[in-house]
Amino acid sequence: MLKLKLHWQVLIAMIIGCILGLFLKSIESSINIQPIYQSITLFGTIFVRLLKMVMVPLIFTSIILGVSSIGSGKKIGRIGIKTFIYYLCTSLFAIINGLILSNLFKPGIGANIIQNIDFDPSRIQTPSSTLDILIRMIPTNPFQALSSGDMLGIIFFAIFFGIVLNLVNDKQSNLLKDIISSIFAVIMKITQIVISLAPIGVMGLMTKTVYSSGLGIFINLAKYMLTIILGLSIHLFIILPLILFLFIKVNPIIHFKSMASAMLMAFSTSSSSATLPVTIKCVRENAGVSNEVSSFVLPMGATVNMDGTALYECAGVLFIAQVLGVTMGIDQQFIIVMTALLASIGAAGIPSAGLVMIFIVTSAVGLTDPQVGIIVGAMLAIDRPLDMFRTMVNVTSDSIGSVVIAKTEGENLYS
Ligand code: ASP
Repeated sequence: MLKLKLHWQVLIAMIIGCILGLFLKSIESSINIQPIYQSITLFGTIFVRLLKMVMVPLIFTSIILGVSSIGSGKKIGRIGIKTFIYYLCTSLFAIINGLILSNLFKPGIGANIIQNIDFDPSRIQTPSSTLDILIRMIPTNPFQALSSGDMLGIIFFAIFFGIVLNLVNDKQSNLLKDIISSIFAVIMKITQIVISLAPIGVMGLMTKTVYSSGLGIFINLAKYMLTIILGLSIHLFIILPLILFLFIKVNPIIHFKSMASAMLMAFSTSSSSATLPVTIKCVRENAGVSNEVSSFVLPMGATVNMDGTALYECAGVLFIAQVLGVTMGIDQQFIIVMTALLASIGAAGIPSAGLVMIFIVTSAVGLTDPQVGIIVGAMLAIDRPLDMFRTMVNVTSDSIGSVVIAKTEGENLYS
Protein backbone atom coordinates (compact mmCIF):
# COMPACT_ATOMS: atom_id res chain seq x y z
CA MET A 1 0.00 0.00 0.00
CA LEU A 2 1.20 3.50 -0.78
CA LYS A 3 2.41 5.06 2.47
CA LEU A 4 2.68 8.84 2.34
CA LYS A 5 5.50 10.51 4.25
CA LEU A 6 4.44 12.11 7.53
CA HIS A 7 4.78 15.69 6.30
CA TRP A 8 2.48 15.00 3.34
CA GLN A 9 -0.04 13.40 5.67
CA VAL A 10 0.14 16.46 7.94
CA LEU A 11 -0.22 18.83 4.99
CA ILE A 12 -3.30 17.00 3.72
CA ALA A 13 -4.72 16.99 7.27
CA MET A 14 -4.19 20.77 7.47
CA ILE A 15 -6.11 21.30 4.24
CA ILE A 16 -8.95 19.02 5.39
CA GLY A 17 -9.00 20.91 8.73
CA CYS A 18 -9.29 24.28 6.92
CA ILE A 19 -12.12 23.00 4.73
CA LEU A 20 -13.94 21.55 7.75
CA GLY A 21 -13.54 24.81 9.71
CA LEU A 22 -14.96 26.89 6.86
CA PHE A 23 -17.73 24.39 6.23
CA LEU A 24 -18.82 24.30 9.88
CA LYS A 25 -18.78 28.12 9.99
CA SER A 26 -20.99 28.30 6.92
CA ILE A 27 -23.64 25.92 8.22
CA GLU A 28 -23.65 26.94 11.89
CA SER A 29 -26.68 29.19 11.49
CA SER A 30 -28.85 26.41 10.10
CA ILE A 31 -27.94 23.43 12.30
CA ASN A 32 -26.36 22.78 15.68
CA ILE A 33 -22.77 22.01 14.77
CA GLN A 34 -21.44 21.89 18.36
CA PRO A 35 -21.38 18.09 18.82
CA ILE A 36 -19.47 17.51 15.58
CA TYR A 37 -17.20 20.57 16.12
CA GLN A 38 -16.34 19.40 19.61
CA SER A 39 -15.58 15.85 18.49
CA ILE A 40 -13.25 17.03 15.71
CA THR A 41 -11.41 19.57 17.84
CA LEU A 42 -11.05 17.01 20.63
CA PHE A 43 -8.47 15.21 18.46
CA GLY A 44 -6.40 18.40 18.40
CA THR A 45 -6.67 18.87 22.16
CA ILE A 46 -5.65 15.27 22.87
CA PHE A 47 -2.74 15.48 20.44
CA VAL A 48 -1.34 18.67 22.02
CA ARG A 49 -1.72 17.20 25.51
CA LEU A 50 0.20 14.09 24.43
CA LEU A 51 2.99 16.23 22.98
CA LYS A 52 3.15 18.31 26.15
CA MET A 53 3.28 15.12 28.20
CA VAL A 54 6.67 14.21 26.72
CA MET A 55 8.05 17.77 26.73
CA VAL A 56 9.46 18.03 30.27
CA PRO A 57 11.06 14.55 30.54
CA LEU A 58 12.43 14.94 27.02
CA ILE A 59 14.05 18.34 27.62
CA PHE A 60 15.40 17.29 31.01
CA THR A 61 16.94 13.97 29.98
CA SER A 62 18.20 15.11 26.60
CA ILE A 63 20.04 18.16 27.97
CA ILE A 64 21.68 16.12 30.74
CA LEU A 65 22.74 13.46 28.23
CA GLY A 66 23.83 16.07 25.68
CA VAL A 67 25.94 18.03 28.14
CA SER A 68 27.45 15.01 29.86
CA SER A 69 28.25 13.24 26.58
CA ILE A 70 30.09 16.29 25.27
CA GLY A 71 32.50 15.30 27.99
CA SER A 72 35.22 17.75 28.82
CA GLY A 73 34.39 21.19 30.12
CA LYS A 74 36.35 22.61 27.21
CA LYS A 75 34.13 21.02 24.58
CA ILE A 76 30.93 22.03 26.39
CA GLY A 77 32.27 25.56 26.56
CA ARG A 78 33.09 25.55 22.84
CA ILE A 79 29.71 24.21 21.72
CA GLY A 80 27.97 26.44 24.28
CA ILE A 81 29.68 29.58 22.95
CA LYS A 82 28.91 28.69 19.33
CA THR A 83 25.27 28.03 20.24
CA PHE A 84 25.05 31.33 22.12
CA ILE A 85 26.59 33.29 19.22
CA TYR A 86 24.28 31.64 16.70
CA TYR A 87 21.18 32.34 18.81
CA LEU A 88 22.21 35.93 19.43
CA CYS A 89 23.06 36.75 15.81
CA THR A 90 20.00 35.19 14.20
CA SER A 91 17.64 36.80 16.74
CA LEU A 92 19.29 40.20 16.19
CA PHE A 93 19.05 39.84 12.40
CA ALA A 94 15.35 39.09 12.82
CA ILE A 95 14.78 42.08 15.10
CA ILE A 96 16.57 44.48 12.77
CA ASN A 97 14.54 43.11 9.90
CA GLY A 98 11.33 43.86 11.87
CA LEU A 99 12.63 47.31 12.77
CA ILE A 100 13.39 48.28 9.18
CA LEU A 101 10.07 47.01 7.78
CA SER A 102 8.01 48.68 10.53
CA ASN A 103 9.74 52.01 9.94
CA LEU A 104 9.30 51.61 6.21
CA PHE A 105 5.66 50.57 6.06
CA LYS A 106 4.40 52.18 9.31
CA PRO A 107 1.53 49.67 9.65
CA GLY A 108 0.13 51.34 12.79
CA ILE A 109 -0.53 54.69 11.13
CA GLY A 110 -4.18 54.80 10.19
CA ALA A 111 -4.98 51.39 11.71
CA ASN A 112 -8.41 52.06 13.05
CA ILE A 113 -8.58 49.70 16.00
CA ILE A 114 -9.01 51.43 19.31
CA GLN A 115 -12.70 52.23 18.75
CA ASN A 116 -13.48 48.84 17.22
CA ILE A 117 -12.27 46.69 20.02
CA ASP A 118 -14.36 45.35 22.79
CA PHE A 119 -11.69 44.09 25.11
CA ASP A 120 -10.90 44.19 28.79
CA PRO A 121 -7.13 44.86 29.07
CA SER A 122 -7.02 43.56 32.63
CA ARG A 123 -7.52 40.07 31.20
CA ILE A 124 -3.96 40.05 29.91
CA GLN A 125 -1.32 39.03 32.40
CA THR A 126 1.72 41.29 32.35
CA PRO A 127 5.03 39.45 32.62
CA SER A 128 7.79 40.22 35.08
CA SER A 129 10.69 42.60 34.41
CA THR A 130 13.71 41.90 32.23
CA LEU A 131 16.11 41.37 35.15
CA ASP A 132 13.57 39.06 36.67
CA ILE A 133 13.63 36.79 33.62
CA LEU A 134 17.37 36.32 34.05
CA ILE A 135 17.17 35.70 37.79
CA ARG A 136 14.23 33.35 37.43
CA MET A 137 16.39 31.08 35.29
CA ILE A 138 17.82 29.74 38.54
CA PRO A 139 15.14 27.53 40.06
CA THR A 140 14.93 27.60 43.84
CA ASN A 141 13.42 24.15 43.68
CA PRO A 142 14.31 22.02 40.62
CA PHE A 143 11.49 19.56 41.33
CA GLN A 144 9.00 22.37 41.32
CA ALA A 145 10.50 23.65 38.04
CA LEU A 146 9.97 20.18 36.59
CA SER A 147 6.45 19.81 37.83
CA SER A 148 5.34 23.27 36.78
CA GLY A 149 7.06 23.08 33.38
CA ASP A 150 9.32 26.09 34.05
CA MET A 151 11.52 25.58 30.96
CA LEU A 152 14.29 28.09 31.72
CA GLY A 153 14.63 26.66 35.23
CA ILE A 154 14.73 23.11 33.89
CA ILE A 155 17.38 24.02 31.31
CA PHE A 156 19.58 25.75 33.88
CA PHE A 157 19.42 22.83 36.30
CA ALA A 158 19.88 20.19 33.56
CA ILE A 159 23.00 21.91 32.17
CA PHE A 160 24.49 22.22 35.66
CA PHE A 161 23.60 18.60 36.44
CA GLY A 162 25.07 17.38 33.12
CA ILE A 163 28.38 19.16 33.73
CA VAL A 164 28.72 17.90 37.30
CA LEU A 165 27.77 14.37 36.26
CA ASN A 166 31.26 14.08 34.80
CA LEU A 167 32.88 15.30 38.01
CA VAL A 168 31.73 12.48 40.30
CA ASN A 169 33.44 9.07 40.28
CA ASP A 170 33.02 6.82 37.23
CA LYS A 171 30.94 4.18 38.96
CA GLN A 172 28.32 6.68 40.06
CA SER A 173 28.29 8.71 36.89
CA ASN A 174 28.01 5.68 34.60
CA LEU A 175 25.13 4.28 36.61
CA LEU A 176 23.23 7.56 36.40
CA LYS A 177 24.03 8.04 32.71
CA ASP A 178 22.68 4.55 31.97
CA ILE A 179 19.46 5.25 33.84
CA ILE A 180 18.94 8.64 32.23
CA SER A 181 19.68 7.34 28.74
CA SER A 182 17.20 4.48 29.24
CA ILE A 183 14.53 6.96 30.30
CA PHE A 184 15.41 9.07 27.27
CA ALA A 185 15.07 6.07 24.94
CA VAL A 186 11.62 5.26 26.31
CA ILE A 187 10.50 8.88 26.02
CA MET A 188 11.69 9.00 22.40
CA LYS A 189 9.71 5.84 21.68
CA ILE A 190 6.59 7.35 23.26
CA THR A 191 7.24 10.45 21.17
CA GLN A 192 7.36 8.39 18.00
CA ILE A 193 3.99 6.84 18.81
CA VAL A 194 2.50 10.27 19.59
CA ILE A 195 3.89 11.73 16.37
CA SER A 196 2.24 9.03 14.31
CA LEU A 197 -1.08 10.56 15.46
CA ALA A 198 -0.07 13.94 14.05
CA PRO A 199 -2.34 13.99 10.97
CA ILE A 200 -5.54 13.48 12.96
CA GLY A 201 -4.40 15.91 15.69
CA VAL A 202 -3.43 18.57 13.20
CA MET A 203 -6.78 18.24 11.43
CA GLY A 204 -8.52 18.98 14.75
CA LEU A 205 -6.27 21.97 15.45
CA MET A 206 -6.77 23.51 12.02
CA THR A 207 -10.54 23.07 12.15
CA LYS A 208 -10.60 24.96 15.45
CA THR A 209 -8.32 27.76 14.22
CA VAL A 210 -10.20 28.36 10.98
CA TYR A 211 -13.60 28.10 12.65
CA SER A 212 -12.86 30.48 15.50
CA SER A 213 -11.04 33.32 13.66
CA GLY A 214 -13.55 35.94 12.60
CA LEU A 215 -12.69 37.83 9.42
CA GLY A 216 -13.69 41.44 10.29
CA ILE A 217 -10.70 42.33 12.45
CA PHE A 218 -8.26 41.00 9.85
CA ILE A 219 -9.18 43.84 7.53
CA ASN A 220 -8.26 46.66 9.95
CA LEU A 221 -5.03 44.95 10.87
CA ALA A 222 -4.17 43.76 7.36
CA LYS A 223 -1.15 46.08 6.93
CA TYR A 224 0.24 45.05 10.31
CA MET A 225 -0.18 41.37 9.51
CA LEU A 226 1.35 41.76 6.06
CA THR A 227 4.38 43.62 7.47
CA ILE A 228 5.06 40.84 9.97
CA ILE A 229 4.46 38.10 7.41
CA LEU A 230 6.86 39.84 5.01
CA GLY A 231 9.52 40.11 7.74
CA LEU A 232 9.12 36.48 8.73
CA SER A 233 9.28 35.40 5.09
CA ILE A 234 12.51 37.37 4.50
CA HIS A 235 14.04 35.73 7.57
CA LEU A 236 12.83 32.24 6.67
CA PHE A 237 13.50 32.27 2.95
CA ILE A 238 16.50 34.60 2.63
CA ILE A 239 18.47 35.14 5.86
CA LEU A 240 18.37 31.60 7.30
CA PRO A 241 19.07 29.88 3.93
CA LEU A 242 21.98 32.30 3.45
CA ILE A 243 23.45 31.26 6.80
CA LEU A 244 22.96 27.63 5.86
CA PHE A 245 24.61 28.11 2.51
CA LEU A 246 27.55 30.12 3.88
CA PHE A 247 28.37 27.66 6.67
CA ILE A 248 27.40 24.30 5.23
CA LYS A 249 27.36 24.89 1.48
CA VAL A 250 24.19 22.87 1.25
CA ASN A 251 21.20 23.67 -0.91
CA PRO A 252 18.63 25.11 1.56
CA ILE A 253 15.87 23.14 -0.18
CA ILE A 254 17.52 19.94 1.02
CA HIS A 255 17.40 21.22 4.58
CA PHE A 256 13.80 22.42 4.31
CA LYS A 257 12.81 19.03 2.91
CA SER A 258 14.42 17.20 5.81
CA MET A 259 12.69 19.52 8.30
CA ALA A 260 9.28 19.50 6.59
CA SER A 261 7.51 17.52 9.32
CA ALA A 262 8.88 19.73 12.10
CA MET A 263 8.02 22.93 10.22
CA LEU A 264 4.46 21.80 9.57
CA MET A 265 4.09 20.64 13.15
CA ALA A 266 5.30 24.04 14.40
CA PHE A 267 2.84 25.74 12.07
CA SER A 268 -0.11 23.71 13.27
CA THR A 269 0.64 23.59 17.01
CA SER A 270 2.07 27.17 17.41
CA SER A 271 4.38 25.71 20.01
CA SER A 272 8.16 25.27 19.69
CA SER A 273 8.22 23.12 22.82
CA ALA A 274 5.46 20.80 21.63
CA THR A 275 7.28 20.50 18.28
CA LEU A 276 10.62 19.67 19.94
CA PRO A 277 10.27 15.86 19.70
CA VAL A 278 9.67 16.13 15.95
CA THR A 279 12.51 18.64 15.52
CA ILE A 280 14.91 16.28 17.28
CA LYS A 281 13.77 13.36 15.12
CA CYS A 282 14.14 15.27 11.82
CA VAL A 283 17.51 16.77 12.72
CA ARG A 284 18.94 13.40 13.74
CA GLU A 285 17.40 11.11 11.17
CA ASN A 286 17.21 13.35 8.11
CA ALA A 287 20.09 15.78 8.56
CA GLY A 288 22.41 13.36 10.38
CA VAL A 289 23.30 15.61 13.33
CA SER A 290 24.84 13.68 16.26
CA ASN A 291 22.93 13.12 19.49
CA GLU A 292 25.64 15.08 21.25
CA VAL A 293 24.97 18.33 19.39
CA SER A 294 21.22 17.94 18.86
CA SER A 295 20.56 17.11 22.53
CA PHE A 296 22.28 20.29 23.54
CA VAL A 297 21.25 22.78 20.87
CA LEU A 298 17.61 21.85 20.22
CA PRO A 299 16.00 21.68 23.67
CA MET A 300 17.64 24.96 24.56
CA GLY A 301 16.71 26.50 21.22
CA ALA A 302 13.03 25.57 21.68
CA THR A 303 12.89 27.88 24.69
CA VAL A 304 15.62 30.43 24.14
CA ASN A 305 16.11 30.90 20.39
CA MET A 306 13.02 32.47 18.89
CA ASP A 307 13.82 34.52 15.82
CA GLY A 308 10.22 34.82 14.70
CA THR A 309 9.13 35.94 18.17
CA ALA A 310 12.01 38.44 18.38
CA LEU A 311 10.99 40.00 15.07
CA TYR A 312 7.41 40.07 16.26
CA GLU A 313 8.24 41.79 19.58
CA CYS A 314 10.00 44.60 17.77
CA ALA A 315 7.47 45.07 14.97
CA GLY A 316 4.59 44.74 17.46
CA VAL A 317 5.85 47.48 19.77
CA LEU A 318 6.52 49.86 16.89
CA PHE A 319 3.00 49.12 15.69
CA ILE A 320 1.56 50.01 19.13
CA ALA A 321 3.59 53.24 19.21
CA GLN A 322 2.37 54.15 15.73
CA VAL A 323 -1.28 53.50 16.63
CA LEU A 324 -0.88 55.75 19.68
CA GLY A 325 0.85 58.38 17.55
CA VAL A 326 4.11 58.17 19.54
CA THR A 327 7.33 58.66 17.58
CA MET A 328 10.21 56.45 18.70
CA GLY A 329 13.65 58.06 18.46
CA ILE A 330 16.88 56.18 17.70
CA ASP A 331 17.68 55.70 21.40
CA GLN A 332 14.24 54.26 22.09
CA GLN A 333 14.51 52.01 19.05
CA PHE A 334 17.78 50.72 20.46
CA ILE A 335 16.03 49.90 23.75
CA ILE A 336 13.33 48.12 21.72
CA VAL A 337 15.98 45.99 19.97
CA MET A 338 17.62 44.95 23.25
CA THR A 339 14.41 44.27 25.16
CA ALA A 340 12.83 42.45 22.18
CA LEU A 341 15.82 40.13 22.32
CA LEU A 342 15.31 39.46 26.02
CA ALA A 343 11.57 39.08 25.64
CA SER A 344 12.10 36.44 22.94
CA ILE A 345 14.51 34.57 25.21
CA GLY A 346 12.03 34.72 28.09
CA ALA A 347 9.00 33.71 26.00
CA ALA A 348 7.92 30.14 26.57
CA GLY A 349 7.56 27.88 23.53
CA ILE A 350 3.77 27.85 23.74
CA PRO A 351 1.00 29.54 21.75
CA SER A 352 0.82 33.35 22.06
CA ALA A 353 3.64 33.53 24.63
CA GLY A 354 5.33 36.14 22.44
CA LEU A 355 2.34 38.43 22.60
CA VAL A 356 2.28 38.41 26.41
CA MET A 357 6.00 39.22 26.52
CA ILE A 358 5.41 42.34 24.45
CA PHE A 359 4.58 44.21 27.67
CA ILE A 360 8.23 43.98 28.68
CA VAL A 361 9.18 45.91 25.58
CA THR A 362 6.35 48.43 25.80
CA SER A 363 7.11 49.28 29.41
CA ALA A 364 10.86 49.55 28.68
CA VAL A 365 10.11 52.42 26.29
CA GLY A 366 7.50 54.00 28.54
CA LEU A 367 4.37 52.90 26.68
CA THR A 368 2.32 52.35 29.80
CA ASP A 369 -0.94 53.94 28.70
CA PRO A 370 -4.02 51.74 29.39
CA GLN A 371 -4.73 51.89 25.66
CA VAL A 372 -1.68 49.68 25.13
CA GLY A 373 -3.65 46.81 26.68
CA ILE A 374 -6.55 47.48 24.32
CA ILE A 375 -4.29 47.44 21.27
CA VAL A 376 -2.65 44.22 22.48
CA GLY A 377 -6.17 42.81 22.81
CA ALA A 378 -6.77 43.55 19.12
CA MET A 379 -3.44 41.97 18.28
CA LEU A 380 -4.44 38.93 20.31
CA ALA A 381 -7.61 38.51 18.29
CA ILE A 382 -5.61 37.95 15.12
CA ASP A 383 -2.54 36.40 16.72
CA ARG A 384 -3.04 32.78 15.77
CA PRO A 385 -1.95 32.90 12.09
CA LEU A 386 1.03 35.11 12.98
CA ASP A 387 1.92 32.80 15.86
CA MET A 388 1.80 29.79 13.54
CA PHE A 389 4.19 31.45 11.14
CA ARG A 390 6.60 32.79 13.77
CA THR A 391 6.73 29.41 15.52
CA MET A 392 7.68 27.81 12.20
CA VAL A 393 10.49 30.39 11.87
CA ASN A 394 11.59 29.71 15.48
CA VAL A 395 11.82 25.97 14.91
CA THR A 396 13.56 26.31 11.53
CA SER A 397 16.19 28.57 13.07
CA ASP A 398 16.83 25.99 15.83
CA SER A 399 17.26 23.26 13.24
CA ILE A 400 19.68 25.36 11.17
CA GLY A 401 21.59 26.20 14.35
CA SER A 402 22.05 22.53 15.09
CA VAL A 403 23.38 21.71 11.61
CA VAL A 404 25.68 24.74 11.55
CA ILE A 405 27.17 23.80 14.94
CA ALA A 406 27.41 20.12 13.97
CA LYS A 407 29.28 21.12 10.82
CA THR A 408 31.76 23.27 12.72
CA GLU A 409 32.35 20.24 14.97
CA GLY A 410 33.35 18.27 11.86
CA GLU A 411 30.21 16.15 11.51
CA ASN A 412 29.20 14.58 8.22
CA LEU A 413 25.68 15.78 7.36
CA TYR A 414 22.85 14.94 4.92
CA SER A 415 24.57 11.77 3.76
N1 ASP B 1 4.36 30.29 19.91
C1 ASP B 1 5.74 30.65 19.83
C2 ASP B 1 6.61 29.41 19.99
O1 ASP B 1 6.21 28.47 20.62
C3 ASP B 1 6.14 31.69 20.83
C4 ASP B 1 5.42 32.97 20.49
O2 ASP B 1 4.29 33.15 20.89
O3 ASP B 1 6.01 33.80 19.78
O4 ASP B 1 7.70 29.37 19.49
